[in-house]
Amino acid sequence: MTTVAVLVETRSGEVTQPTFEALTLARSLGTPVAVWLGEAPEAPEVARLGLYGAAEVRVVAVGDEARLPAVAAAALGAATSDAEVMLMVSTFVNKEIATRLALATGAGVVVDAAGAELVDGRVETMQTVFAATWNVRTRIEADRAIVGIRPNTTQAIAGEAPGAATLVEVAADLRQARETVVVVEPVSAPEGVPLAEAPVVVSGGRGTGGDYTLVRELADVLGGAVGASRDATDEGWISHEHMVGQTGTTVTPALYVACGISGAVHHRGGMQASGTIVAVNIDPDAPIFEIADFGVVGDLGDVLPQAIARIRERRAG
Ligand SMILES: Cc1cc2nc3c(=O)[nH]c(=O)nc-3n(C[C@H](O)[C@H](O)[C@H](O)COP(=O)(O)OP(=O)(O)OC[C@H]3O[C@@H](n4cnc5c(N)ncnc54)[C@H](O)[C@@H]3O)c2cc1C
Repeated sequence: MTTVAVLVETRSGEVTQPTFEALTLARSLGTPVAVWLGEAPEAPEVARLGLYGAAEVRVVAVGDEARLPAVAAAALGAATSDAEVMLMVSTFVNKEIATRLALATGAGVVVDAAGAELVDGRVETMQTVFAATWNVRTRIEADRAIVGIRPNTTQAIAGEAPGAATLVEVAADLRQARETVVVVEPVSAPEGVPLAEAPVVVSGGRGTGGDYTLVRELADVLGGAVGASRDATDEGWISHEHMVGQTGTTVTPALYVACGISGAVHHRGGMQASGTIVAVNIDPDAPIFEIADFGVVGDLGDVLPQAIARIRERRAG
């Protein structure tokens, strides 16, 4: 049976949803083992990893140095020498970890994948590229495959017969690491689920006129994150962490709602692979309607309050 290692992502000590998505995918490829970099996890987190199919949770006790991709890649390599497949959430940092590990182990690597399967004993991945205008299937010919999976591209489902995951401590020699973390200072980040991982994103553009009240309210009732176009962030209406697009964050939520956004190619490049796209725009010829699954021609000041009210009604009923 193929051993599939999954790098665990945590936020405030808790395993993130995209990790469970990766574990769900790992079950379809072989026997998942979770790899935890840092202090040993609490029992509830080990149990949750077991629930999603991890047979083992391998812990490499590495401190703040785990933030350095070179160190994380070395630690991961030590914990996964028996794994034919390695999955990780396709974050900015993990892409560097994936490529470093691939270089060190001779593995084949694909990042930003939307899925993976075993075909004749080899891993094949699915991706959208060039601003989601092409679908690509890649076959990894190397004996070892490392795959970065985009959040929200696999539905996280608990295992049918989950067992208790065994905690295994792994020793790793990290003396070769050439950098040391001197100071760690958290910078302020938007509250809630990060944009790249959110299952629902509601974005506002120049059409908001700078007032994000309705966009935030809609995101709130849908349990989503708030995004923005670059024009809106350049205007200073909302901080740059919210920018979606070529120079902003690439998002692949199940639902993307574009409010007062024209749909310029630079914006589309970061959201076109979303599951369902809804657009609200006063201009019926706005390019965003070319890629929208549902389009509403109207002023967002009229449309969003009605949508918010209907969603609240349905939730209440
Ligand atoms: C190198 C480069 C990189 C870039 N990277 C990015 C990027 O990462 N992300 C990004 O977003 N942009 C990026 N841009 C900018 C991009 O080209 C567009 O200029 C930008 O996306 C437009 O933002 P917008 O849709 O909010 O504004 P506009 O294009 O001005 O569109 C506003 C829309 O709102 C509609 N509208 C107005 N009032 C209302 C209302 N009351 N109700 C409903 N609709 C209304 C209008 O009909 C219009 O369609 C980049 C540009 C360059 C050159």
